[in-house]
Amino acid sequence: MNIVITGGLGFIGFNYLLTSLDQKEITRIILVDKVTYASHYRLSEKLQKIEQNSGKVKLITSDINEIDFASLVSAEKIDTIINFAAESHVDNSISDSSPFLTANVDGINNILRGLVELQKTNTTTPTLIQISTDEVFGHLSETGKPFTENSPLAPRNPYSATKAAAELLLKSYKNTYGLESIILNCCNNYGPYQHPEKLIPKAITSMIIGEKIPIYGDGLNIREWIFVEDFCHGIQKVVMTKSARKDRYLFGSGIELSNLDLMENIFKHLQSKNLAFGSFNDSVRFVPDRLGHDRRYAVNSRLTQLDLKWSPETSLIDGINSTIQHFEAS
Ligand code: NAD
Repeated sequence: MNIVITGGLGFIGFNYLLTSLDQKEITRIILVDKVTYASHYRLSEKLQKIEQNSGKVKLITSDINEIDFASLVSAEKIDTIINFAAESHVDNSISDSSPFLTANVDGINNILRGLVELQKTNTTTPTLIQISTDEVFGHLSETGKPFTENSPLAPRNPYSATKAAAELLLKSYKNTYGLESIILNCCNNYGPYQHPEKLIPKAITSMIIGEKIPIYGDGLNIREWIFVEDFCHGIQKVVMTKSARKDRYLFGSGIELSNLDLMENIFKHLQSKNLAFGSFNDSVRFVPDRLGHDRRYAVNSRLTQLDLKWSPETSLIDGINSTIQHFEAS
């Protein structure tokens, strides 16, 4: 099986590459990445890993908007494209949504146009797997039921609006041209190689150097957290399942925490390893809330677990410990 991983130098994309290197059915991996600031964290280590596996992996340094996907798929006999490429930081989308439209909407449009072009000469086209987010469904109250496969799209920030727009484009191309695509909506990921701008890496690195970690608003916004390797194993199940695949799979861990509880958890882990000192209250500072800050996201992944025979296996303690080990070595 030959696959394209877009955004493969980013957090989840690189972890998925590591998972795929061990998957013997996958013989060829074409990695496409624009190498934005988001891929710069430990970039040389990531490039070294690709170099070490150059028999299996080829890196194309490019914007997905600049790739002729019809030619790439034909030349490399691609079976599956997994699209991780995106602008991914909500705060940045609030400062300026334009790069989000280019990467997250124009980008998927270019992939889809390439596949339509390919249809003119080929009887089959690759499956397109779009890595999406639970944020496309809007937000929940503290007691609201987690999102399901039937929840309507109701994005509430510019980032999630572009991710929802990408989903609508995919659905329209499935209906209009019969292109096979699958959408994966996942909750918040954490783990090795996440950019230090994101909450968990920022908390770990700040607490280790004794810097206060900024907390938005009252700190009671709730997120569901999955260890990135668990999500990558789920993606692999989707890639390897060849029959009766659904249009959409929801991935969650069932581990829901307020930002404040999460920070306290991390602080206690660091303290037990003699990596953080003083009191938890002294290690955080409250800052004005993010504009339009969603209160809670959570997904019901029961159907995904049944259909794919997949389940998240990493406890919060184990996941946080692995993440601390990774960032401690930074
Ligand atoms: P990331 O920001 O760490 O990585 C994104 C990668 O895409 C980077 O390597 C960047 O260089 C590349 N990229 C950006 N624009 C590009 C373009 N136009 N052409 C080619 N490459 C481009 O993001 P991440 O956290 O790994 O997220 C990956 C995907 O998963 C995104 O689509 C995101 O929306 C989705 N997602 C993330 C989470 C999460 O918690 N991180 C949760 C659910 C869904």
